[in-house]
Amino acid sequence: MTAQDLHVIVIGAGITGLLTCQGLKKAGIRYSLFERETSMNYRSNEWTMAIHWALPLVKEILPADVWDKIPDIACNPTVGIHSGLYPIINADTGDLITGVPYKDGLRVPRSKMRGLCAEGIDCQYGKTLVDVAFNESGKGVIATFSDGTLVSGTIIIGTDGPRSRVRETAMGSAEKAAVTKFPIFHTNMTVSYGDAEKALYVRKKFPTSYLALSQQNLHAFQSISSMPDGPDHPETWIFHMAMAWMGESDNKMSYPERLALIKGKAESLGEPARSAFLWMPEETEVHKADISYWVSQPWNNYQGKLTLVGDAAHPMPPYRGQGLNHCICDVSHLLKGITEVRDGKTALVDAVAAYENEMIPRGTEEVSCSVENGEMLHDWNKIQESPVFRRGFKPMDGHSNVREEAVGA
Ligand SMILES: Cc1cc2nc3c(=O)[nH]c(=O)nc-3n(C[C@H](O)[C@H](O)[C@H](O)COP(=O)(O)OP(=O)(O)OC[C@H]3O[C@@H](n4cnc5c(N)ncnc54)[C@H](O)[C@@H]3O)c2cc1C
Repeated sequence: MTAQDLHVIVIGAGITGLLTCQGLKKAGIRYSLFERETSMNYRSNEWTMAIHWALPLVKEILPADVWDKIPDIACNPTVGIHSGLYPIINADTGDLITGVPYKDGLRVPRSKMRGLCAEGIDCQYGKTLVDVAFNESGKGVIATFSDGTLVSGTIIIGTDGPRSRVRETAMGSAEKAAVTKFPIFHTNMTVSYGDAEKALYVRKKFPTSYLALSQQNLHAFQSISSMPDGPDHPETWIFHMAMAWMGESDNKMSYPERLALIKGKAESLGEPARSAFLWMPEETEVHKADISYWVSQPWNNYQGKLTLVGDAAHPMPPYRGQGLNHCICDVSHLLKGITEVRDGKTALVDAVAAYENEMIPRGTEEVSCSVENGEMLHDWNKIQESPVFRRGFKPMDGHSNVREEAVGA
């Protein structure tokens, strides 16, 4: 197969889909990217993410001129890409419990990372995938969108996130593709104190971010998200804040009701978390994040004409900071295979099989580990035993055993 024969349909313009298209474009392979949102970051929730072990892969995937801009989108541009110890603190006293080592890491806000990865990429917005069908000739795939339009291609890549529509086709039913709700009340907020003294105070000890764990079995998290007018204007700094505890969440609560609930819990915390949460302005929108997971398992790839990448393949609780790192790793592996197809070195069916043989056990293991980690971090008696304390941010390395269990070997 040559580059001219290949047409890759990519569903979903999150970071995974955009990175996939960056790599395809660089390789001279035709792609069509479809996104259900009507424009980039339209009504999307904002949060910050640490990219650590997968950062070198981002450099390989992006064109050099786009990669060069990556330090500019750092949450804390005064540190950019840097190494250090990520602070996990005792929320009740403010004392450091441990520092999780990381090398050449970068924390980015989701919106800016998406914006950067979208540079030079054609995306068709307002296109919601509703169906996937395969040509009777056995040669191609057809995607149908909610506006009645269709597109045909050589392969469809589902980068459509945790509740992936492509996964339903891959698994043969919506039930088998359905996520499991992680039973947590997880709130996410974007906060600006509009007050230089307050902004400087909350990040004095931990300049970029911290994870605070409490004997109340909750976590409180704060990170600088962006500095719109630069480091010299703390009154405009924007923070990503989160607080979460295990239990069912009441979705009917209003923003002010959730804010009051969080502030009530913050009363007994130590500094800096106490002030950081109590000072949140009354108009703060307290979003309830939907944390759910699907343990990666083998799917039907229709002889290499369909596959899943990113959260579509392994949605997981975020408390070990692994999701995006694995998304990037997936993109890197799949691109290598598709490039070999372009060069006539391998068949598409074999390239997709090779990608899935590496990715699925890695996803199975990390989703399971992140579920366990999420439970343990919200149980004060177990935090020291949790994967993030034992393993840090490193990817797990026992994929083959996990795969055998997952397929019932
Ligand atoms: C609070 C929080 C903190 C996190 N922190 C970290 C961290 O520190 N480190 C880390 O590595 N990871 C972290 N993660 C995980 C990380 O954010 C995700 O793994 C990553 O953003 C997933 O990207 P994606 O592109 O695969 O999916 P998404 O971002 O969900 O993108 C999927 C896209 O597909 C579109 N779509 C969906 N269905 C359709 C359809 N039918 N048709 C067309 N388009 C469709 C959606 O609109 C969306 O734009 C965190 C997650 C959360 C929630």
